[in-house]
Amino acid sequence: MVARRGWQTVAPGAYESSSGTTGRRTVVLMADRLLVIGGDGAGMSAAAQARRRQPELEIVALEMGRWTSYSACGIPYLVGGALDGVHDLVARSPEEFRSMRIDVRTEHEVVGLDLPSRKAEVHNRAHGRTFQLGFDLLHIATGARPRRPDIPGLDLPHVHGVQTLADATRLLDDARSSRPGHVVVAGSGYVGLELAEAFLDRGASVTVVEAASEVMGTLDPDMGALVARAMRQAGVNVRTGAELTGVTESAVLTSVGEIPADLVVLGLGVEPNSDLASAAGIDTGVRGSIVVDRQQRTSAEAVWAAGDCCQSYNIVSGRPVHLPLGTVANKQGRVAGINISGGYATFPGVAGTAVTRICRTEVGRTGLKEGEAKDAGFGVVAARVEGTTTAAYMPDAQHTTVKLIAERRTGRILGAQIVGGLGSAKRVDVIATALAARMTLDDLIGLDLGYAPPFSSVWDPVQVAARQLLPQL
Ligand SMILES: Cc1cc2nc3c(=O)[nH]c(=O)nc-3n(C[C@H](O)[C@H](O)[C@H](O)COP(=O)(O)OP(=O)(O)OC[C@H]3O[C@@H](n4cnc5c(N)ncnc54)[C@H](O)[C@@H]3O)c2cc1C
Repeated sequence: MVARRGWQTVAPGAYESSSGTTGRRTVVLMADRLLVIGGDGAGMSAAAQARRRQPELEIVALEMGRWTSYSACGIPYLVGGALDGVHDLVARSPEEFRSMRIDVRTEHEVVGLDLPSRKAEVHNRAHGRTFQLGFDLLHIATGARPRRPDIPGLDLPHVHGVQTLADATRLLDDARSSRPGHVVVAGSGYVGLELAEAFLDRGASVTVVEAASEVMGTLDPDMGALVARAMRQAGVNVRTGAELTGVTESAVLTSVGEIPADLVVLGLGVEPNSDLASAAGIDTGVRGSIVVDRQQRTSAEAVWAAGDCCQSYNIVSGRPVHLPLGTVANKQGRVAGINISGGYATFPGVAGTAVTRICRTEVGRTGLKEGEAKDAGFGVVAARVEGTTTAAYMPDAQHTTVKLIAERRTGRILGAQIVGGLGSAKRVDVIATALAARMTLDDLIGLDLGYAPPFSSVWDPVQVAARQLLPQL
């Protein structure tokens, strides 16, 4: 803990108490104050941990939007009509946090940080006022924002980036009022795939535009091709090698021609919201994400960071990475919260595990792609096997393809990708576990995995892939 602040004088209008009193010249006695910036997974899991461990700590959490602890991951299913409303995606409301004595203030945006004087400049969006708020301990969990390249037309109202529930509400309102016949999704990562499915479900004609030669850049191209085939079979018009060059009122312009579009969704990846931190002198690294150590400490004294705004570390390549995923954000937030409140925890790094689906086809990946493994200096062997998700004779057996990547000679497992029917994607978790344990092909082949005909063949497809790879070492 840093030194307690004790008495502090706050200028008129500079302090708003949790009850909303403003404009007071006041002298307040406080224990250490933790200020959390960002009210979603990485911010509020840290706040909740800190509260559990330190009943005396004053915790203020500022969130510029209206919601806390929400699932952005559920937005595609909200847009597709599977959920009733935005409230379905809120795991814990501001009121629930307040009942835990966490002073959550929504529609409060932090617009500046002065670390030497331990003050944040805060803009109350609801009342249009700006004030300063002191802190002893700071946790930055500002997330990421959709990448918007400098292309004409991206500021048109029917072009939507999707990151927060406010974005989701705008997108849903637009979809309901304009009833778009033609939707173009720019980018074919998992957000692009899931939103393509959402608009198919809404009855639109959907085109996915991708600049690369294959969809889903997180997969090797041979596995991406399987996803592209599944997208086409599901009714998506897939345009690879098509670079987005502009948007007009009624079309998307690409390097290979014009595509009609009543509504455009951006799935071009995200960039970390690290401007506040870097302006305050905190070190940033990969793609501008905030550099943190294993305890989620930043380069500044008593300042932590977690989630999409910060850098992580790949456990296979040993390299720093920016991996904006909800699983990572929540785990890092927990670690930060434990350390902030005087405990000790470390975040072990990421394998890059991710799962998604496009209609009836599931996709899973973990570890390094073949090319990434070579770039990281490994001698690489890879095998691709076809199999079924259950015993092949079961009536609901689904086709699945597993690609497994290992290190030449040692047989250390380096990564896997899976594309197939229901029951395929989560098999990647076995490989994620193998990566964490630095297992070899032999270890994987010997694993005592569950088997019964409705769940698997006697040899699970991931073990079949390992067996096929063994002779190549
Ligand atoms: C459509 C979609 C689908 C996804 N699906 C998955 C999935 O299936 N699996 C998965 O693991 N991940 C998924 N993700 C990613 C996941 O949602 C994010 O990784 C996760 O939300 C990151 O949490 P976070 O707390 O770091 O950041 P965020 O969720 O971005 O939260 C940051 C918060 O900080 C607030 N904020 C930012 N700046 C300020 C400021 N200056 N002052 C005050 N408040 C501020 C923002 O309003 C925001 O609420 C998906 C994301 C999207 C958009």
